[in-house]
Amino acid sequence: MTTHKAALALPEAREACGVFGIHGPGEDVSRLTYFGLFALQHRGQESAGIAVSDGRGIDVFREMGLVSQIFDEDALARLRGDLAIGHTRYSTMGSTTLANSQPMVAEWRGGKIALAHNGNLVNAMELRQELEEAGERLEATSDSEVMLRMVAREAGPAGGVEKAVAACMPRWLGAYSLTILTKDAVMAVRDPYGVRPLCIGRLNGKAHVFASESCALGVIGAEFVREVEPGELVVADKNGLRSHMVVNSPRHALCVFEYIYMARPDSQIGERLCYEARRGLGRQLADDCPAEAEVVIPVPATGWPAAIGYAERSGLPFGEGLIRNWYVPRTFIQPDQRLRELGVRVKLNPLKEALKGRRVVMVDDSIVRGTTKRGIVKMIREAGAKAVHVRISAPPYRWPCYYGVDTSNRSELIGARCSVEQIREAIGADSLGYQTVQGLLKGLGISRRKLCLACFTGRYPIPIPKDVKLSKLDLEERAWREGKGDAETETAGQ
Ligand code: AMP
Ligand code: SF4
Repeated sequence: MTTHKAALALPEAREACGVFGIHGPGEDVSRLTYFGLFALQHRGQESAGIAVSDGRGIDVFREMGLVSQIFDEDALARLRGDLAIGHTRYSTMGSTTLANSQPMVAEWRGGKIALAHNGNLVNAMELRQELEEAGERLEATSDSEVMLRMVAREAGPAGGVEKAVAACMPRWLGAYSLTILTKDAVMAVRDPYGVRPLCIGRLNGKAHVFASESCALGVIGAEFVREVEPGELVVADKNGLRSHMVVNSPRHALCVFEYIYMARPDSQIGERLCYEARRGLGRQLADDCPAEAEVVIPVPATGWPAAIGYAERSGLPFGEGLIRNWYVPRTFIQPDQRLRELGVRVKLNPLKEALKGRRVVMVDDSIVRGTTKRGIVKMIREAGAKAVHVRISAPPYRWPCYYGVDTSNRSELIGARCSVEQIREAIGADSLGYQTVQGLLKGLGISRRKLCLACFTGRYPIPIPKDVKLSKLDLEERAWREGKGDAETETAGQ
């Protein structure tokens, strides 16, 4: 879900969200949704909400903050019903308002509709204009509201919400994994490219569950059934589960960053368990970017499986050199640079005994602004390490994401502005080794044709309308695309 301004005019504010849905007569659906959202907290920490239906109408409760802060026993007790959807939301600027939190609710003559969205529509501006010209008064500033209002408008003429969603899907361009609630059905919808994940589970043999990631199924004791297919609309109601393949996929383009950073390691995304995907990336990195060192340490927590893979393949011992305070949210959730810098110290503390006098390979998932990496390298040196070799399991992050991941604006992406050697210098490492795009694909063991790699290559699988693109692309960016977007070797300092 992306704010209108953010997606279309101010590219800084994008979001990675978590969505959940359950059709479970007889189950405590609001409590189950609460636990599902708890497992999806890493996908969004700004606001959260639950909408529930008792078969007659929909109630919604959404607030700013973490899931555990928003809901208490009283709030859950008020959300009574048999079917529910939920959402965790993250954004970086301008839009941290309750109006943009989700699930969002609209009405048509058949009742209320609630919608929860993960992703980003690239043609939201155009669709919003159409709605406004048709007399719609939109209350929030997000593309998710545009989708919801389109469905609500279409529901009458189409003869119901299910048909309205199917009618709207071909008009939505971009990334969308949705859960939608009506008074008697829960729907799950995935864009034809399958950019964001969405899966189906079953609970106690009869309740149907939808979630951004499979880790949210495990937490409530549901079993994984399958993924929602790209272009598919799945409906759970009193008749069970039914599926419509609404839009044919021109190609699949699952966000590779889900494997690298976004998703929880215990989530099965597409054909790989994220943990194994990250471990494979670490092994590949050890092959391509070896280092003279005594110990391999992860930057907790995302760098962990890749560091294990690196240690396995290189034969170097794995060690813990940084202890994380688990109560601090992910660094990239912090709203400004000053807090981000402070955030490094708040989050990580060096384990001096493990680092002193040793040459260290420090493995992490990605470098975005370089701020945290610089702070961590400094911290490791101050703890007495003789050398710090930084190894990154993703290629240099050089291009903005239009499909629902916060990349900040391009001028803040250190990989877009600097060579690998300049980045090494900026973060103060003795050497810096990045995964190549080829290494990424090999390490994951997934075909290039199934993935979006655009933030590393500049090749966008879903066409970006010119006006949206021009607002971000400058001449320097074009130069990268023509020249170095898919570079072979990404190592400096050895
Ligand atoms: P830095 O070293 O300051 O560039 O921070 C990079 C770290 O931020 C990564 O190791 C991730 O933990 C996290 N991160 C990953 N993706 C993003 C993103 N899209 N925006 C901001 N931070 C991210
Ligand atoms: Fe994911 Fe990058 Fe593609 Fe965005 S551009 S969807 S972050 S791979």
